[in-house]
Amino acid sequence: MKVKENIHPNVIAVSKTFQMPDILPLIEYGHIHFGENKVQEALEKWENLKLNNSKIKLHLIGGLQSNKVKLAIKLFDYIHSVDNEKLIKKIADEQIKQNKKVKIFIQVNIGNEEQKSGVLKKNLNNLFNYAQSLGLNIVGLMCIPPQHQDPEPFFKELRNLSEKLNIKDLSMGMSADYILAVENSASFLRIGSKIFGNRIKKF
Ligand SMILES: *Cc1c(COP(=O)(O)O)cnc(C)c1O
Repeated sequence: MKVKENIHPNVIAVSKTFQMPDILPLIEYGHIHFGENKVQEALEKWENLKLNNSKIKLHLIGGLQSNKVKLAIKLFDYIHSVDNEKLIKKIADEQIKQNKKVKIFIQVNIGNEEQKSGVLKKNLNNLFNYAQSLGLNIVGLMCIPPQHQDPEPFFKELRNLSEKLNIKDLSMGMSADYILAVENSASFLRIGSKIFGNRIKKF
């Protein structure tokens, strides 16, 4: 497998469910990209820390509800889960109010799975154009391939889609499949358990 040249993937350390004592060693080491999947949890963990450490880039990798958009725009540098027009409109309005632009990934439902987030492939073009028309800074596409299947064809497909739209970043690859993702030109890997260990389920 040939890796596209000049790609140096960024590792997003997915720190969801972990608390600062587990995260601080990475920050002190100089790691930059961190991912969270819940706005409220991220706010409690990162708000102060980010004020004192402007190098840190925070990524929202989980679903975003409209009533959390204001907080999300305030806190995050990247949002990976944009997949519908209503959310795009809300983000656009909020960005104007806060005079801030975040970097956006459009999440694609790459396996056409029911109940899974992400825009369907057939609707991607329209959604992308809509987001651009409202001034969003779309830097890339994001996907979570179907479970229990070889992820590689899905990674390849996401890359093809991004090339057609001429957008450069690909957010794909998690603990179980990040090597395959790198081989298929991922530029942002979202890695949790391989860095922090297994997450304890919350009930
Ligand atoms: C939790 C999560 C990850 C990281 O998962 P690991 O398997 O622990 O690496 C990556 N992406 C998303 C969207 C997640 O919710």
